[in-house]
Amino acid sequence: MFAEWGQNWGEDYVLLALQMDRLQPGFVDMCLDPDRIRRRVDLSPPASASQLSARAGDLVVRLDSEIRSDKRRCFLRAQLRGMETTLRKLRGEHISFSDEIKLCYDIEPEAVPQERLRKAHDDIASALRCSSAEAGEALQGWKRIQAVDSLRIRRYWRALTHEARRRSSTLLPLPEGEQVALSFVYKAPWSGYNWYLGDFKSRVDVNLNARRSLADLPYIVCHETYPGHHTERAIKERELYRRHGYLEAAVLLYGTPECVISEGIGQVACELVFGSAADMAEWCNAELGTSLRPKRDGQVVEALRELDIRANVSLLLHRDGVSRSDAVLYSRRFGLQTAGEAEQTVAFCERFGAYAMTYVAGRDAVRAYCGTRQDTSHLLPLYGEQLTCSTLSQLTVECNAGRDGPLSASHSQREDRSRQQIRS
Ligand SMILES: [Zn+2]
Repeated sequence: MFAEWGQNWGEDYVLLALQMDRLQPGFVDMCLDPDRIRRRVDLSPPASASQLSARAGDLVVRLDSEIRSDKRRCFLRAQLRGMETTLRKLRGEHISFSDEIKLCYDIEPEAVPQERLRKAHDDIASALRCSSAEAGEALQGWKRIQAVDSLRIRRYWRALTHEARRRSSTLLPLPEGEQVALSFVYKAPWSGYNWYLGDFKSRVDVNLNARRSLADLPYIVCHETYPGHHTERAIKERELYRRHGYLEAAVLLYGTPECVISEGIGQVACELVFGSAADMAEWCNAELGTSLRPKRDGQVVEALRELDIRANVSLLLHRDGVSRSDAVLYSRRFGLQTAGEAEQTVAFCERFGAYAMTYVAGRDAVRAYCGTRQDTSHLLPLYGEQLTCSTLSQLTVECNAGRDGPLSASHSQREDRSRQQIRS
């Protein structure tokens, strides 16, 4: 089962991840150049969760002697904590939802405060010139007018991807030869999905059935392509996997802290290249021939981005034991959603559980970090280094204090803390 185990830490990490993927398909979201290791996994008998836990423990023990970089060790310790938590669940152990969020994702189980949601309601009401009580109905009217048909979705995706790529290349050194191929599909459970294929290439599946408002479309495009998921994966492949030879960077693992950074980058991607939603709408009018009203539509779109209630709904369902029908009512009331949208939100949170927490937590952390400086030189570490939400927040504090540089002395303190957590 584990022939050749113990020769290379990074390779063993990938081997463990691929074995876990056999127990929980989809655990490995992306795998670069996997043939050699995957063949070893395919040829070996499946391992039990208990056997894999022992291997995860072995990797933790070997961290200190085999991984020299502080930053890398700190990141990998947090990743292993997430993997071990998944293995505990696979062994049938009960882990509370709050603990799962902390252990898997290195974030706190916090809901978006009601005041923040209410402010978004007020902003929508003021943009659409109605009372806050009428905001939901007015918003649905606005969405109907904004709806984009499948023909225009194809055209807009291509144009927006092209422009987002051009702008991203002025902020970040994109790998030579990187490429995104768009593939248009029907009836998928998402609006768009990035499949990172390795060698700096992605295929993004675009769901033509997804009802989307025009003003919201650029956010999805940037999230999946530039400077979102594709860009992050391509830069990590170049910096971590190829330049440093970190084999663990060959995989992206569901249920681990790295997902929070990825979703956070995806959530702020559009802001990074297009600025405010009003600026975005101006660009759409000029280049796509749309007739958006930048101030009004921009205000609605930005308020809608704040109305991301997936974390709240997930906590209601999985932590607080709220019934499905009450979660649907909550989504309608606080997310200003139609019955159909609320059903989709609840179905998403039922299916993805703790993962639904990554979007808002990641967005807030990445946004706070990006706000620390006017220039863009700090973006490369965000894309090219191994970060968790805690280390990114620490980096933000250091940048704000004018001590911006690599994650410095405080790293070892954080590592001590995380070592204690993994043992407890
Ligand atoms: Zn995403």
